[in-house]
Amino acid sequence: MKPQVEIYDTTLRDGSQGEGINFSVADKLRIAEKLDAFGVHYIEGGWPGSNPKDIEFFAQAQKKKFKHARLAAFGSTRKKGVAVEADDQVRLLIEAGTPVVTIYGKTSLLHVKEVLRCTLEENLAMIGDTVKFLKDHGKFVIYDAEHAFDGYKLDAEYALATWQAAEKAGADFVVLCDTNGGCLPGEIAAITKIAAGQLNCKIGIHTHDDSGVGVANALAALDAGAVHVQGTVNGYGERTGNCNLISVIPLVHFKMKKSCVPAKSLAQLKELSLFVDEVANIRHNPRLPWVGSAAFAHKGGTHVNAVQKLAASYEHINPELVGNARNILISDLAGRSNIVMKAQSLGFKLTNDTPELKAILETIKQREHAGYEFETAEGSMSLLIRAALDQKFVPHFNIETYHVSMRRDQRESICEATVKVRVGATVHHEVAEGDGPVNALDAALRAALVKSYPKLKRVSLTDYKVRILDGIAGTGAKTRVLITSSDGQREWGTVGVSENIIEASLEALVDSMEYALLKK
Ligand SMILES: [Zn+2]
Repeated sequence: MKPQVEIYDTTLRDGSQGEGINFSVADKLRIAEKLDAFGVHYIEGGWPGSNPKDIEFFAQAQKKKFKHARLAAFGSTRKKGVAVEADDQVRLLIEAGTPVVTIYGKTSLLHVKEVLRCTLEENLAMIGDTVKFLKDHGKFVIYDAEHAFDGYKLDAEYALATWQAAEKAGADFVVLCDTNGGCLPGEIAAITKIAAGQLNCKIGIHTHDDSGVGVANALAALDAGAVHVQGTVNGYGERTGNCNLISVIPLVHFKMKKSCVPAKSLAQLKELSLFVDEVANIRHNPRLPWVGSAAFAHKGGTHVNAVQKLAASYEHINPELVGNARNILISDLAGRSNIVMKAQSLGFKLTNDTPELKAILETIKQREHAGYEFETAEGSMSLLIRAALDQKFVPHFNIETYHVSMRRDQRESICEATVKVRVGATVHHEVAEGDGPVNALDAALRAALVKSYPKLKRVSLTDYKVRILDGIAGTGAKTRVLITSSDGQREWGTVGVSENIIEASLEALVDSMEYALLKK
C-alpha cells in the first residue's frame, strides 16, 4: 500500500552539516542500512559533487540491496553559462548510480540577482535543463526549491515560475524549502496550499529549526497538501538543525493518523534515535520529544500518584508505542508513590503499605539533602532499598584500607592505587596504575574483587561525571560523582558524595561492584 506521507531522510547529507557530526563511509553505510530496515522511503546519501567521501559512499552503496528505501544523490542545478551535459557536478550525480536524484535550485529573485548573479531567465533555464537531463537519464527527480517561502513572499510570480520550470521539465516532486528556518506555520501552510493548487506534480516540504518550529512547519505543510517530508534523525543539521524526523514520524502516524513508515516500525523509534546518536558519538538528549529518557519521566508527587492510577492522566501517549518507557524520578518532591513505582521497576516487591517504606523515604530525603542524586543512580538506589528491606543483608565485600599516590617525572605522570579488600575470611591486597587516581583505584579494586568474583571481569566503567556542589548544609564544597557501568548487556548508575573527590568516586565504584554482584 502506498503511504499517505513519504519520509525522506537527509541525515547523511544535510544532517552531517551539523556541528560535531562527522560520519565515515562505514558509519554512513550502517546508518543507511538501519534507516532502510526501519522503513523510510528515501535515503539521501550525500553530495557526490562536493566531496570524495560521498562518491565512495555511493560506490559502496550500489553493491547493497535496500528493501524499503530508494537511495538519492544530492546536487545542484547546472552552473550558469555551462551546458548541462558539460557540467561535472551534474555528471557525478548520474555516476552515483542511484535511482533518485535530488537537485536544488533558486526560488528567490534576490538570490538569483545577488548570489547567483545571473538573469532571471538563465535561472529558469538552469532548473529546466538540469531536471530534463536527469529525467532523460532515467532518474526519479526531486526538485528542492531553495528559499521557497522567503522567495515567494518576495516575488510570488517569479517563485511560481521557478517551480513550474521544474515541473514542466518532468520533476516528480517539487519540495518547498524553508532554508533559513525563519517562517511561521501559518505562512508555510498558506504558500504550500497555493503551490499544491498551481502545480500538477507532488509537493514536499523541507524545513530547518532555526526558530524552533521546524517540525511544526513540516506538519503545517502536510496539512496543506504536501505528501513528502524531508528531515534528519534527531534533528541533526546546520545551525540549530533540520526538521526532526524522530518527532515527525510519530506525529504523522499517531496524531495526524496518516500512514508513513510501516506501523510495526514505530516501536523501534527510540532504538533508531539511539543508534544514530551512538554512531555519531553524541550523547542522547534526555529531553528529545517521544524518545528522550525524560519524555515520560514523572517527578511531582501528585503526578506520580495519578500516573499510578491511570497512566494516561499525565501522558499524551503510551511510551511503549515508540519504544520508550515510563521513568519515575526520585527527588525531594517525591511522595510514596514515586518510591513504590521505582522500587517495583527495580524488581522489589514493595507496596504503599510496606512498613519499611517510611524509613526508605527518610533515608532518600536525607541523602538528597546531603547532595546525592538518585535519578540516574538506580544501582545505589537499589542497594539502599535492599538494605532497608533486609536488616541481615551483608555486603559482598568491605574495603579495609586504600592508598592513592601520584608521581611525575619529565616524561609522564602516573597514578598508583593500593586496595585491601575483605571478602568473608579472605583479604585481597592489590596494586594498580592508571592515568588518573580514579582510574587507578578502579583497576586495583577490580583486580582484588575478580579473585573472589570472576563475573566482575565483564563489568566496565562507561561514564564518569563530576559535579561540584556548593552551599550544601553550610560545609565546604562537596563533590558528587556519578558513574555509569556496564556488563555488556545493561547499564546502571551509581553515586557517591564527599568533600573529597577520591572518596566520592570510591563510594560510587563500590556501589557499582556491589550492585553488579546483586544482580542475577
Ligand atoms: Zn536543508
